[in-house]
This record gives sequence, C-alpha cells and structure tokens, in this order.
Amino acid sequence: MLVRKLSDRIYMIDLKPLGFENFIASYVLNGEKASAIIEAGPSCSVRNLLAGLREIGVRNQDIDYVMVSHVHIDHAGGAGTLMKCLPNAKLVVHSRGATHAINPEKLWEQSKLVLGEVALAYGRIEPVPENRIVTPSDGETFHLGGSIQLKVVETLGHSSHHLVFRKPKPRSFSR
Ligand SMILES: [Zn+2]
Repeated sequence: MLVRKLSDRIYMIDLKPLGFENFIASYVLNGEKASAIIEAGPSCSVRNLLAGLREIGVRNQDIDYVMVSHVHIDHAGGAGTLMKCLPNAKLVVHSRGATHAINPEKLWEQSKLVLGEVALAYGRIEPVPENRIVTPSDGETFHLGGSIQLKVVETLGHSSHHLVFRKPKPRSFSR
C-alpha cells in the first residue's frame, strides 16, 4: 500500500524510491476546486507517485499544482518527469530554484558530484518548461477549495531557495 489518508482530502504517498519504505513521501491535497502534490520526489519514484494518485482516485489531468520545497534531487529531481504526466499542472517553486528546474544540467552535475551513485540511482533530472512554472511570493496563499489552503513561507537556510507550504491558522475571534 502506497497511500495513507491523513485527514479529509489530504493524503500521503510513500514514494518508496528503489524499494525503501518510509523514506520519502509526497502529500496530495485534493481540494474541491484544485488539487496539489507537495514534493515530487526523485525521478526513480515518479511511477510510484502516479500509482498512489490512482489509488486515491485523482486523475493525472486533475492535478493543478506540483509544489516543491526546494530543488534538491530527493525532493524535486523527478519534477520534470512527473510534469510530463500531469498535463494541467504548474510547478510551484522558489524563483531561485526555478532557474535550475528549467535548466537542470548544473544541478544534475552537482548532484552526481555530491551524491555519486546515489544520484544515479535517484535518476536523471529532467527539465520543466518555463511556461509551466509559478514562482510565488512570500506569504502568497493558494486556495484549493473548502478549507484546503496553503500559505507559502520563504524559509531560507537548508538551501537559498527554500519554501514551506503551511495551512494558515484559523482566525481567532476578537471581542
Ligand atoms: Zn535538500
């Protein structure tokens, strides 16, 4: 089983790269108006991610966004391969990460340099067409319908192009 239902309309898919369980996961938010995948994972597990979508019952063409925290190979190396299978999806990525998503050659070479055989096992990083990329600003909110919203927060540190997608806190009532 690849899919775990976390709450109404929110799922986690165990990507099982190279058969390793509980190692890398993607989240699927199946909103009433739009659906998003959080983290693409590496190229080698895109097939498992697509199998997870089928298990959830979401069609490839119904995915509107693939949102990645940053473009390192374990989180987004498979974004280009994945986007080829999701005809209506946009890749949501930090503006500094977008450059690498569009032209991943340098990133791929760096990944091989740092990770060696692990990078090769994760699989080649394919490019994402520039017209399919969205670079949100810090604080921007994506409304997927109903209570499913994601606020983009720039969280630099681990990388110079890192984002977090968080569910906004419900407003408290002031008297
Ligand atoms: Zn990283």
